[in-house]
Amino acid sequence: MLNENSIQEFKAGLRGAVIEPGDKGYDEARKVYNGMIHKKPRLIVRCADVADVIRSVTFARDNNVLLAIRGGGHNAGGLGICDDGLVIDLAPIKYARVDPAARTVTAGGGCTWGDVDHATHVFGLATPSGIISTTGVGGLTLGGGLGHLTRKFGLTIDNLLSTDVVLANGTFVKANADENSDLFWALRGGGGNFGVVTSFTFKLHPIDMIYGGPTLYELSEAAEVMKWYRELISTALDDLSGFFAFMSVPPGPPFPENLHRRKMCGIVWAYVGPQTKAEETFKPIRAFTKPVLDLVGPLPQPALQSMFDALYPPGLQWYWKADFVNELSDDAIAEHIRFGETLPSMHSTMHLYPMNGAASRVSKSDTAWNYRDATWAQVMVGVDPDPANNDKTIAWTKSYYDALHPYSAGGAYVNFMMADEGEERVKATYGNNYRRLVEIKSKYDPKNLFRVNQNIKPSRNN
Ligand SMILES: Cc1cc2nc3c(=O)[nH]c(=O)nc-3n(C[C@H](O)[C@H](O)[C@H](O)COP(=O)(O)OP(=O)(O)OC[C@H]3O[C@@H](n4cnc5c(N)ncnc54)[C@H](O)[C@@H]3O)c2cc1C
Repeated sequence: MLNENSIQEFKAGLRGAVIEPGDKGYDEARKVYNGMIHKKPRLIVRCADVADVIRSVTFARDNNVLLAIRGGGHNAGGLGICDDGLVIDLAPIKYARVDPAARTVTAGGGCTWGDVDHATHVFGLATPSGIISTTGVGGLTLGGGLGHLTRKFGLTIDNLLSTDVVLANGTFVKANADENSDLFWALRGGGGNFGVVTSFTFKLHPIDMIYGGPTLYELSEAAEVMKWYRELISTALDDLSGFFAFMSVPPGPPFPENLHRRKMCGIVWAYVGPQTKAEETFKPIRAFTKPVLDLVGPLPQPALQSMFDALYPPGLQWYWKADFVNELSDDAIAEHIRFGETLPSMHSTMHLYPMNGAASRVSKSDTAWNYRDATWAQVMVGVDPDPANNDKTIAWTKSYYDALHPYSAGGAYVNFMMADEGEERVKATYGNNYRRLVEIKSKYDPKNLFRVNQNIKPSRNN
């Protein structure tokens, strides 16, 4: 139980605001992106700087208070927040500094990917991230990071050069290839298990315009499209990426009215090779079968990165299930179509994110990310604005997952998992890297202070 005096003393030593139950703004401050999550923390600390983070970690540890770390607040299972504990909210630590000569960007722990893209795009540079610009840099990076640039430049962690970290004992360290390299290894895929990362430095690439966007097809053509897509992406040059989706057409521009709310399948493309070769690259894609809608064309990188932001505003109800997939068999495709035809709501969807290419050429033991040989990260999400529809969307997601899991590679991307999937699932995800993660956890966080995450437990001897 926290006593009032210690809270007052703690607050007096901070630059950032502390929000408590009963304060104006408390209900707003405890909201996360997934409207299904309703946690009530005891203290939300809007950390203004690294000093606030160190004081918060120390206070939580000394007072035996449950500690959550919030980056962008996007986590599916709501792992950026907790009941009754202290939330380190990194949102105010928001800066993105580009070094155009060195081709790097250093981003504060509270940045979203939109903040980073905004800072880098004026220099014609970018680093791989996810597909929605409001997602936090923190959680996405520490879990691995999959997106449009993965096939060309690898996972987000493959582009991470250095981090600043506040450890469980309150010390501040750098983790990179030369300093605390064991910690740096674990941070690249091991999630928020090892400390609070207050700063991330990434490698940048000359990406300015991308030739991309969706092509949509009738559901009746889904089997043919999926089989063709399976072959195409397995042999495509790294310059070309495209994730497959079942979706309902959003009821607004740029989609024509006759398609609104129609269940369809599609591929969201991103070609990052020489733009002069883009039309030629898409000739065979367009020749395969004429898409019902073809919105693919040249667009600035941040436009592709934020293309789906409006469709998925904060506060919707989300339920996620995921797997890694090596092969997309004809039988798996038949199961996919069964569920694609029964999408339970306008926002519900299934994505297959290709990971072959640059990400697969990094060794399994180079970072904590184990599934380097998977071809896709698969995710099915039941999504709807209305909590009254949760039973329906959750049931669809679970049945879909149950039907497809037998065709999967075993584990799942930690960032696509809900909070209650269990230790075995986490172990399956890290495979042979799990043992080393436990060793590093035991060294840097022996008491498991950082446990509001896909938890890697320290060994019992600590
Ligand atoms: C709409 C949507 C689209 C998405 N698309 C993609 C995608 O394309 N590619 C992809 O890879 N993922 C994607 N994700 C998943 C995303 O990577 C995870 O939800 C991720 O956890 C979000 O990070 P966050 O910082 O916003 O989350 P938060 O909820 O703030 O935190 C998530 C976890 O990370 C930890 N954490 C966050 N920041 C830090 C930090 N600085 N130091 C230590 N620990 C930290 C937290 O403790 C928590 O355990 C998407 C999610 C959503 C909701």
